[in-house]
Amino acid sequence: MANIRNLKGVGEAKAKLFAALDIDTVSDLLHYYPRTYSDRRKNAPLGSFKHIEDICGCFKVLSAQGIKARSLDIFKVMLEGEDKQIYEAVWFKKRTFKFDSLLPLRQTFKTGAWFWIVGKRENKNSFTDRKILVEEYYPLDSTDLKYNVDALIPLYSLTKGLTQKFLRSCQANALQNYLVDEEEVLPLDLLKKRGLLQSKQAIKAIHFPVSMAELENARRRLIYEEFLLMTLAFNLKARQKFVVQKKHKYTLTKKYLTPFKNNLGFSFTPSQVKVINEIFKDMLAPTAMTRLVQGDVGSGKTVVAISALLLAVESGLQGAFMAPTEILATQHFITLNKYLKPLGINTALLTSKTTAKERQTLLNKLANGEIQILIGTHALIEDKVEFKNLGLIVIDEQHRFGVKQRAKLRQKAEQVDMLSMTATPIPRTFALAFYGDLDVSTISELPKGRQEIKTFHTSETEAFLKAKEAVSRGEQVYIVYPLIDESDKLELKAVTAEFEAAKIKFPGINLGLIHGAMKPKEKQKIMEDFLAKKIDILFATPVIEVGIDVKNATVMIIENAERFGLASLHQLRGRIGRGDKASTCYLVTKNLSTISKERINIICQTCDGFKIGEKDLEIRGPGEILGTRQSGELEFKAGDIIRDKDVLKWAVEDRDYLVNKDFFLTLPEHSALKRRLIELYQKKWPLIDLG
Ligand code: ADP
Ligand code: MG
Repeated sequence: MANIRNLKGVGEAKAKLFAALDIDTVSDLLHYYPRTYSDRRKNAPLGSFKHIEDICGCFKVLSAQGIKARSLDIFKVMLEGEDKQIYEAVWFKKRTFKFDSLLPLRQTFKTGAWFWIVGKRENKNSFTDRKILVEEYYPLDSTDLKYNVDALIPLYSLTKGLTQKFLRSCQANALQNYLVDEEEVLPLDLLKKRGLLQSKQAIKAIHFPVSMAELENARRRLIYEEFLLMTLAFNLKARQKFVVQKKHKYTLTKKYLTPFKNNLGFSFTPSQVKVINEIFKDMLAPTAMTRLVQGDVGSGKTVVAISALLLAVESGLQGAFMAPTEILATQHFITLNKYLKPLGINTALLTSKTTAKERQTLLNKLANGEIQILIGTHALIEDKVEFKNLGLIVIDEQHRFGVKQRAKLRQKAEQVDMLSMTATPIPRTFALAFYGDLDVSTISELPKGRQEIKTFHTSETEAFLKAKEAVSRGEQVYIVYPLIDESDKLELKAVTAEFEAAKIKFPGINLGLIHGAMKPKEKQKIMEDFLAKKIDILFATPVIEVGIDVKNATVMIIENAERFGLASLHQLRGRIGRGDKASTCYLVTKNLSTISKERINIICQTCDGFKIGEKDLEIRGPGEILGTRQSGELEFKAGDIIRDKDVLKWAVEDRDYLVNKDFFLTLPEHSALKRRLIELYQKKWPLIDLG
C-alpha cells in the first residue's frame, strides 16, 4: 500500500501530522472520512449543512484598509456581493514586531479583484448582517476552487498543523491517483441485495459528494461495511471456543437438583425451565459455555444460577458465584445457605472485607475441595484464589463489572463454563451483533402473582405519609438516598444526618440505616433484622440497588431521584414488588433538569426493563451499557450503532447468510473480505487461523 508520503506536498513533517491521525498510507487517508460537510453550493437551501450564519459566494473588493488596534492588527475589506449588497470582511491578526502581519492580506485583496469567500456572519441570527468573519478565501483563478467551493465540501477532524484546505487537496490527489487500488471487499451479491454503492464510488462520494442523496448512499455503504466486518469478527471469535475441549465433565444425577426444586416453595416459571435447560445443554457439551441470561429485575435469575451451580456440585466440581457488591454477595450467601445447607453442601463467602485469617482457612478449604461453592465479590478472581476443580463461574449483574475485570476473569477461567446474568437487557440486534461470543437466554416473564409496581413523582411529605400507612399495614419501606460513592465522607455525613432528622418524623416506628461504608457484619445484621421485620423503614444508600430480596417491602422512596440513571432507578425499584402485595415507588426530586425530567417520566410510565434499556441506550450511548467503551470495540469511522441500527440489522442478517454459505470464507468471492477482516481484527483479537 502506498505510503502517505507518496502524495504531493506530504513530506516528513506532514507525514508525522498524519500519523497523529492514524493515517500512514494513502488508503488510510481515503478511509479518513469527513466529520461533517459545509454546503457551499450557490443557492444552497438552509438545511442540514447550511445555517443562517453561513456565507459563501463571489465578492468584488471595493476597498481595503489596515487598522492598528492595541495589540491586534485589524484588516477590513469592503466587498460587493453578487446580490449588489455591500459587505464588510474582517481579519484579526496578532501583532508581531518582526514583520507586518497584514502584508499578505494587503497584497491579496487588491481593489477590483474578485474572490470566493467562505465565512460566517458576525451576527449568527441575522439574515441581513453583512459583517463576515472570513474562514477561507480563493481568488477566482485559483486551482483550489474545485475542491473547496461551490459544492458540498468536506470538513475533517484536524490536528494542529493541518488545514481543511490541505487535507482536501490531499484527498483529491489520493482519489485521482490511488482510488484504483482500493479493493472491493464486499461480495457483489450482498451489494446488489442491499442496493449499495461499490467501494470506489462510495469512497469518492463520501469525500466529495455531488448531492445529498449520493452522500447518503455512500454513507450507508461504508457503515454497512464497517458493521459487517465487526460482527463477522465477533462471530469468528465466538467460534474459536469450539476448537478447544474443556477438561471437566458433568453428569446430571439430580441428586441435589430434585430436592432443591422440591423445597423451593414455588415452581419454576416456563421461562426459567427453558433457560435452565439451555444452560444444562451447554454445560454438558464438550466445549466451554459462555452464556448470558437476561431477565428483568425480579424475574428469578438467582434460582436459575443455583440450579447450574448444583449441576456442578452433583458432578463433583466446584462452582463460583460472583456478585458486584459485597452486600449482594452476602445476600446470595444467605440464600444459598438456606437452600443448600439442608442438602449438606458447603458454601463460603469471600469479599475484600474478609479478614486475613478467615481468608487463609478459606483458601485452604477451597484448594482441597472442601468448599463446594464459593460466593463473593471480584475478590474471587484474585490471583491467590485457587480452586481444586472449578467447573462453573456465575457472574451476577455482569454489566456492573468493568471491562478489565471481565477480561481478567476470562483469562483466569479459560476452559471453565461461564454464566453471566443481567437485568439490563440489550436490544436483540445489539446482542446478536456484539455478543457474538455469548449465547443469550432470556427469562421473559415474571413469576405469577406479581403486581406491577406503581411509580409516582411526588413530594417528600406525601411520600413519608405513604410510608407510614404501609408500616401500619405491617409492610416495610425503603428510603434511598443518592450516595453514589460510598467513600465520599461528606455525602455519607449528609445521609446520616437525613436519617437522624427523619427519626422525628417517624415516631414509634423502627428505623434502620445501611450504607456501604459499614462493616460487613453490621450490614449483615441490618439486612437480617430487616428480613425479620425488626426494622420497618430502612434508610439506605444505593448499596441495596442490586439483588436485595425482601418480599414484605412494598414501598420505596427515592430521594433526589434526579441524580440516578434510568437503569439504576429501575434496579432500585426492583427491590419492591417481590411478593404478591401491591407495591409503590415514590420519586422525590430537587432541581429537575430537562433530561432528568425525561428520565423520571419514563420510569413513572413503564416497568418494562426492555423499554427502559432502550431509552437508556439512547440517553447514555452504547459504550456505557455494553461496557466496552474503553476497549474501542465499538468505535466506528462512519457508523453509529444507535442512529444506524437498521444498517446494523442488515449486517447481522448478512453475516449469518455468509457464515451459513461459506463457514470459513474460503470461496474466491470472499477472499477480499477475509483479508480485510484479518487485517482489521487480527491484532485486536488473535482470531483462529481460518486456514
Ligand atoms: P432477579 O432476577 O432480579 O435476580 P431473584 O432471583 O432475586 O430475581 O428473584 C426474585 C424473587 O422471586 C425471589 O424472592 C425468588 O425467590 C422469587 N422467585 C424466583 N422464581 C420464582 C418463581 N418461579 N415463582 C415464584 N417466586 C419466584
Ligand atoms: Mg438478582
